Amino acid sequence: MNRRNFLGLLTASGLGLLTLPIISHADDDGKKGGAPVLFPVPTNTGLNGNIVVVGGGMAGATVAKYLRLWGGTGVNVTLVEQSPSYISNIMSNTVLTGQRDLSSLVYGYDTLASHYGVHRITDEVTAIHAGQKQVSLANGGSLAYDRLVLAPGLQFDLLPGMTSLDEYDTRIPHAWKAGPQTQLLHDQLVNMADGEDVVLSIPLAPYRCPPGPYERACVIADWLKSHKPNSKIIVLDANPDIIVEKENFLHAFTVTHAGVVDYRPGSTITHVNSANLGIDYVRGGIAQHIYAGVINAIPPQRAPQLLADAGLLNSPNGRFAAVNVLSYESTAQVGIHVIGDASHTTQPKAGHIGNQQGKTCADAILRLLGGQQPDPAPVTNSACYTPITATTATWLSAVYQFDPMTGAMTIPSQHNNGNAIAASAATTGNYKDMLIWFNTLMGDTFS
Ligand SMILES: Cc1cc2nc3c(=O)[nH]c(=O)nc-3n(C[C@H](O)[C@H](O)[C@H](O)COP(=O)(O)OP(=O)(O)OC[C@H]3O[C@@H](n4cnc5c(N)ncnc54)[C@H](O)[C@@H]3O)c2cc1C
Repeated sequence: MNRRNFLGLLTASGLGLLTLPIISHADDDGKKGGAPVLFPVPTNTGLNGNIVVVGGGMAGATVAKYLRLWGGTGVNVTLVEQSPSYISNIMSNTVLTGQRDLSSLVYGYDTLASHYGVHRITDEVTAIHAGQKQVSLANGGSLAYDRLVLAPGLQFDLLPGMTSLDEYDTRIPHAWKAGPQTQLLHDQLVNMADGEDVVLSIPLAPYRCPPGPYERACVIADWLKSHKPNSKIIVLDANPDIIVEKENFLHAFTVTHAGVVDYRPGSTITHVNSANLGIDYVRGGIAQHIYAGVINAIPPQRAPQLLADAGLLNSPNGRFAAVNVLSYESTAQVGIHVIGDASHTTQPKAGHIGNQQGKTCADAILRLLGGQQPDPAPVTNSACYTPITATTATWLSAVYQFDPMTGAMTIPSQHNNGNAIAASAATTGNYKDMLIWFNTLMGDTFS
């Protein structure tokens, strides 16, 4: 199937960038389902170029795959990812409660390499030389590119009182990048004495996965009820209120998990002591101090230093890379595209959106290689499923369309008056749909 057929198929879907049809199902325990459909890479389509992609997460793996699938064999794609495999953040909250193993969230790069012909390098990119169109690698050497796509995710700030990022790895895990910290937080919860409290802190928006911290509070509360019935979870939210799916989370905090979630909006952390697990914070102008049995400190986030060093962090708050959302090309540097959580757009920092940005970016690069302009009217969509208990979930979904007046991706007014749509209640049906959605998204990204 060539790119034109492909784009026709996608346009026929009504939402040009929906994930592709995947033959996949979730088992009852949510483990991986059937095999995805593997479309062939076309031979040379007349498009030729060298594209280097940095980061093989949700955004980077998608752009690498679709550059080859739509561009054909003349488009050389090199994917530089520092880890041998990827661990999904999505669903990682259920590792905390023992419903899943971390190993069930590991995705490899074999199919991208063997089926799509993506050239895979396990290494870290340490510097970007925009003038020479090259990147340096930690293990020595450099790679030249015609266009560079940066999809490196995020880095995490220290909280006040901390002196080293090691404190997250050993004492107060944020577990906001799935991996050893997820396992550590699970183990800390298991080993916590019944009657001690968990403290979860939420940074000011924007941060990765807007509903994620509230979801985490719910699944931990649900687990505490059956494993530590005398404990509760205190949520210190730096934001003045629940920032997304307010009705659903308020219901979860005050009805489903009443008495187990103690939600404290408008809480600004002033000091964290990772040795004695003490936290100072200010709320309503009043200084407070609490001790925790477990601290899950989700810190403020920003695009990695690599991008700062290259002068790419030109968003209004200076933490992320501003981009032209028709192509995801940086507004600071030509020939460099930034997708996923590291970019600054009006869309949420989410894996589903990273996948969609990867496809928009791949299509734009291929059009540019062919001497055309990017699609002037891209559409993206996002779904976020949220477990509220071990068997029920809610969801939030939105469609974004390019608005030529503002140059931003916005939810069109004909879609729920310009607002995201949320599930009206947490149900077991939503939980089952969540597992299908997750397997389909991951299959579309890595297979
Ligand atoms: C608990 C939790 C739950 C979530 N739930 C959802 C959900 O339900 N739905 C949803 O859509 N999203 C969800 N998310 C958000 C989602 O995981 C992120 O938005 C998404 O992973 C961002 O994709 P990305 O490609 O930008 O970054 P990542 O997925 O983090 O990938 C970045 C990759 O770049 C690599 N890298 C970084 N720097 C370099 C370098 N210099 N050289 C080489 N490689 C490098 C990293 O190793 C990493 O593999 C959740 C997140 C969390 C924490």
